[in-house]
Amino acid sequence: MARERVDLVISGGIIVTMDARASVIDDGAVAIRRGRIVAIGRRSEIASRYVAPRTIDARGRAVIPGLINTHTHVPMTLFRGIADDLELNEWLTKYIFPAEAKNVDQSFVRVGTRLGLAEMIRGGTTTYCDMYYFEDAIAEETARAGMRAVLGETVIDFPAPDNKTFAAALGYAERFVQRWQGHRLIVPAIAPHAPYTVSEDHLKEVRALADRLNAPVIIHVAETRKEVADIMQQKGTTPVQYLARIGFLNGRTTAAHLVHVNDDDIALLKKLDVGVAHNPQSNMKLASGIAPVPKMLAAELAVGLGTDGAASNNDLNMWEEMDTAAKLHKVATFDPRVVSARQALWMATAGGARALHLERETGTLEVGKRADIVIVDLDRLHQTPRYDIYSHLVYATKASDVRTVIVDGRVLMRDRRLLTLDEAAIRREARQWQRRIAQSLRAAARKETRELRPERVSTGRSTG
Ligand SMILES: [Zn+2]
Repeated sequence: MARERVDLVISGGIIVTMDARASVIDDGAVAIRRGRIVAIGRRSEIASRYVAPRTIDARGRAVIPGLINTHTHVPMTLFRGIADDLELNEWLTKYIFPAEAKNVDQSFVRVGTRLGLAEMIRGGTTTYCDMYYFEDAIAEETARAGMRAVLGETVIDFPAPDNKTFAAALGYAERFVQRWQGHRLIVPAIAPHAPYTVSEDHLKEVRALADRLNAPVIIHVAETRKEVADIMQQKGTTPVQYLARIGFLNGRTTAAHLVHVNDDDIALLKKLDVGVAHNPQSNMKLASGIAPVPKMLAAELAVGLGTDGAASNNDLNMWEEMDTAAKLHKVATFDPRVVSARQALWMATAGGARALHLERETGTLEVGKRADIVIVDLDRLHQTPRYDIYSHLVYATKASDVRTVIVDGRVLMRDRRLLTLDEAAIRREARQWQRRIAQSLRAAARKETRELRPERVSTGRSTG
């Protein structure tokens, strides 16, 4: 019998499908044609039915769905470690906002995006959801690198690096959505920053525009106790219930954080089919609190994991988020049974796809899905010996164990070598930006010192 021709076969390995039955195929194989999975099964069976010009040998390795980072601000990789161990307000007003005001332009965004893409691909992330400025440039860099993304242009009620007014930002967002809609890899979205930084009228305008364009919406919600207290005072209810009341939440919305939510909020999020981006490490580092994720999972909410921006994490490593999510909720509830290893991997794959409303395209290894596939080493010292594949992937495996990454059937990293990005150039450009950013912060600090204590201005060179 003649074998059917496909583009690529991944042959051998433990296939962890993350499908609804949690199927795991030992010594399996995956056949890929025109960017989609056309067959998945035992290695011998796939070999007898399909022939491909290219085969990737995955024997002895795990083959898993590509990881989905449901919340980040990718260009902020250039602010990695700019200021740590500070209270949120001080961190934002003394470091992040001044650094953004002085540095964020299109070139910054492109360099930071390339740096973030390289880091994410190296760590087995195949889809990410972003919220930042100059999102058009982010989309161009992402499409060129071959990564999948939901990209939200930020709109906010104060002058931003790319648009000085809300109206201008909304106009930019509309053109951005129209330009990228229908792209194979990019899903353009609108990203109002948060209910405390965007007015009720403006949130309603965003909702109307998103509905008219049929575009997803991304927003930060209920991140801190202060936000909940402020909204309570201004609107008389919780952020989730306020957003529901004004008709803002629906099944094309992804809400990041949702740290401080009550049982009624969770029921409402479920009813309205809102996707959840849980960011355990960012919430820990900024001391925001602990999201009630076990309750969300019990309510069958679409919960995914996210790293948040690199300035508040400080990396884009989804393996750490899985490990942290599983452990954080155990210690928070004194119950080691909550957020199992399998649930953590589910949130990083199938759950993430649902949170971004992309579950028909990605998140599991199943026939018909996009071929977003990661091959992971299993034989390193810290992975030896091995009993259970889920425990192994979540509690022992590191981002550096990722070997090969495929998005939409295209190989973006092969045997740890990036094929679509120039790592040396990215490092060089990021270091140039580091010098510029550090200088701008020193200049801002000098200005502040002058204003506060004019008699003590030093003319000597600062070394920060
Ligand atoms: Zn964020």
